[in-house]
Amino acid sequence: MEEKYQIELVLNDNLSLQELEITNRYWFIEDGIFKETPSNIGREFGLRSFEISTIARNGSYLNITQYCSGCKLKQELKADSITLAKTYLKPSWTCTTCLKQIEQAKFDRLKEEKILTQKRRFNKFVQATEEKAWYKFTRTELKLLIQMLQAPSTKHLIEKLIELKEKKYWSILHRANEYGLVDLVKNSKNYIIQHYPLYNLEEHVKPYLEVLQKPPSSTKEKHSRISFRMLKNKNRNSADDPLNNGVIVLGNDVVFKAGEPLSYALYARENGDVHLSITPSDKIVKYKNLTRT
Ligand SMILES: [Zn+2]
Repeated sequence: MEEKYQIELVLNDNLSLQELEITNRYWFIEDGIFKETPSNIGREFGLRSFEISTIARNGSYLNITQYCSGCKLKQELKADSITLAKTYLKPSWTCTTCLKQIEQAKFDRLKEEKILTQKRRFNKFVQATEEKAWYKFTRTELKLLIQMLQAPSTKHLIEKLIELKEKKYWSILHRANEYGLVDLVKNSKNYIIQHYPLYNLEEHVKPYLEVLQKPPSSTKEKHSRISFRMLKNKNRNSADDPLNNGVIVLGNDVVFKAGEPLSYALYARENGDVHLSITPSDKIVKYKNLTRT
């Protein structure tokens, strides 16, 4: 095993036999522990403990050699008392140069982690915006989420949720985190310590929430035609995953009658997107006739 430090007892030349014995016993150390106390030694010699300490300190000192745990730099320390020696005999010692390097490395790592976290959060929000992830929630849920996210701080938000004692709020918040409407930062005990809402969330969800407020008369109009763009599935990992997916919201009811022939068509669009159109066959004829005249 590598030695953490070396200890050398340096004695004055002119010590009497008694002084030599006292001094040797005073400094007797095993596995970093001083085995004797000045009062114990003093009892045997009929001396007080401070007299034992004085004899030892006047006639000797401990030379402690340490090596830096990082660069193996050598450091020599002189201890003329057990109290001082104890402060020097640490399990390991690191020089100031190495300490600075360790601090710098720690700082760099934290900085790197912060950049990665921000990047991940940015990508999460971009994906949620592209997918229009808010359509995965009901309007009521979204309204509750927006209310929750208006909390002035994470502390306020969590306190309020605890106070409300309602599982559904927690569920909405965790789903919002999963779908990218909010980014929750948790500590090692899995407690939420910080939350970052998707930028401009309220602006994004406005069209979805406003559809509901349209007068019911507009829904009376029935369009038996459906046509929309299908976004390429950017998270496709296997053949089982859909080529294109997403969520659409119709402004009106669409009714297709049983027994009515429907024409469907799929058009290629840029970036792997496609456009799907389903129309009753007779309508196509009509439209074609109209455009030709
Ligand atoms: Zn060092």
